[in-house]
Amino acid sequence: MSLLTVNENGLFCRQGDFYIDPWKPVKTAIISHGHSDHMRFGMGNYICHHHTVPLLKLRLGSEQIVQGVSYGEVLDINGVQVSFHPAGHIIGSAQIRLSYNDEVWLFGGDYKIVPDGVSTPYVCVPCDHFITESTFGLPIYNFPDPAEVYADMNAWWRANASEGYNTVLLAYALGKAQNVLAHVDKTIGDIYLHGAVANVNDALIDVGYSFAGRRISDGLRRHEVRGALIVAPPSALATPWLRTWTPYRIAMCSGWMQLRGARRRRGVDRGFVLSDHCDWQQLNQAIVQTKARNIYVTHGYEQAFSRWVREKHGLQAVVFKTLYSDQEEEEL
Ligand SMILES: [Zn+2]
Ligand SMILES: [Zn+2]
Repeated sequence: MSLLTVNENGLFCRQGDFYIDPWKPVKTAIISHGHSDHMRFGMGNYICHHHTVPLLKLRLGSEQIVQGVSYGEVLDINGVQVSFHPAGHIIGSAQIRLSYNDEVWLFGGDYKIVPDGVSTPYVCVPCDHFITESTFGLPIYNFPDPAEVYADMNAWWRANASEGYNTVLLAYALGKAQNVLAHVDKTIGDIYLHGAVANVNDALIDVGYSFAGRRISDGLRRHEVRGALIVAPPSALATPWLRTWTPYRIAMCSGWMQLRGARRRRGVDRGFVLSDHCDWQQLNQAIVQTKARNIYVTHGYEQAFSRWVREKHGLQAVVFKTLYSDQEEEEL
């Protein structure tokens, strides 16, 4: 009998009587990371990595019952050995390993094998059964070296500042924003944070992280700010808030920026290809390295990618229909 199956509530482990990243209320929920399509409201109790705990309390309420665990720590849940391993996706993100009767299952959650300098780097976990996402599971996705992207970003900010423009970077509040802040050149100018970004940062500062930039205070005379960097979530686009930074130039940071026309459609001046996920080649690499014989493909290009895995890698591969978002991340 399969250790993990999909039912109407989420990914279910019958032997252990728990769910992973469920989308409907259940008693026990193991949570891979803090993005809203994986961490939902209404569970009896939550089990997640220590650094996801403050994010869960920020987003779902401080009264939630949460058990924090470390990477590598093994829990015995009704005879199933459960452990969390770094997924390299965002701070606190984990792959969930289940072991029962000499069989190992791995739920990759969202994962990224290229280190971002902020989240604990991805570790390959060998397994028999691997549940993988496929957000960028088409050969057209081929991400550039992040070091080049950061260099471009800093050069653009510097140029904007020298012309008296502010620079607005749109980056998801959890994940991309911390990634960007770790790599911007702090000597170019002041860095201001939208409230949504500052809230996430504050929650993570409580567990020992530190970030560049400061929350935009009510007293700040925005019309006098020049040459600054402002980090805001994509939802800030086309809001009156944005206009208060005039004159500004604006860019979107996302894996989707690799698509032709994406920048124009979003109505931004620049697009920086920066992702919390694997590109095509990295997804393939991860699958081969786990040595799994059975692959279950979730959110993204499930059909195309599972067919590819069957035909190219000669593995068993099926689609796991889940309710995780096939966008790169949430809107906030
Ligand atoms: Zn995610
Ligand atoms: Zn996801």
